[in-house]
Amino acid sequence: MKVGIVTIFPDFVKVVKEYGVIAQAVENGLLEIEIFNLRDFTTDKHKVVDDYPYGGGPGMVMKPEPFFRFFNYYTKNFGKPYVVLTSPQGRRLNNSIAKELATKEKLVIICGRYEGIDERVMAFVDDEISIGDYVLTGGELPAMVILDVLSRFVPGVVEEESVKNDSFYNDLLDHPHYTRPAEINGISVPEVLTSGNHEEVELWRRKESLKKTLLKRPDLFIKHNFDEMDKKALIKLFREMSSNAR
Ligand code: SAM
Repeated sequence: MKVGIVTIFPDFVKVVKEYGVIAQAVENGLLEIEIFNLRDFTTDKHKVVDDYPYGGGPGMVMKPEPFFRFFNYYTKNFGKPYVVLTSPQGRRLNNSIAKELATKEKLVIICGRYEGIDERVMAFVDDEISIGDYVLTGGELPAMVILDVLSRFVPGVVEEESVKNDSFYNDLLDHPHYTRPAEINGISVPEVLTSGNHEEVELWRRKESLKKTLLKRPDLFIKHNFDEMDKKALIKLFREMSSNAR
């Protein structure tokens, strides 16, 4: 998958491809990430990308011409991309949107600044994505978040089993995790995890996952489609809760 990020702060954004899982995905050729400096698509001496708003008012607006030049350049060289504008007005990012974006062969993410971008640039935009109901100073952090979350759904970047167990995949939160030592400060790892009984471990994990979801995110719990294993795990959970209450 080819991802382009358009920004006036390329040095800020480039760290996204230099660490961890994403750096590995780039090295393994699963992700190709290119960061474009919007100022390279200006034609004036001072590489100006903003101007005063028509109608007056506070702040500056990103000029349309550099974006138009960028889109022409990109399409001519690589073909038409799926264009995402980072915007607090967009669809709120979640796993299913990230999964959908991960299927695009060529994706371009636009980072806004100032009061936003001249509305005429919307002619090139396929999608607007928000990372939450608040306003950031720029689209760079949202672009990095979007790239990070979608990369986990690009085949081969993260083990599929691991993605499936993570929070939100099935409207459930992840179960607790433990590593060595088996005991610290008098707190032991739950016995079942060292039992070697895989079926029991799976059932315990599902029970804990349901419990965390019920307590922390009842809105997700109610939406969940309960399967046979969930039912078994819930019986165990309710028994445990009622014996704790006694
Ligand atoms: N005037 C705009 C509004 O109220 O809708 C906000 C502009 S904001 C200061 C500058 C840029 O930051 C936006 O163009 C967008 O690219 C980015 N941005 C800010 N908050 C965001 C959010 N919650 N999600 C995604 N992008 C955001």
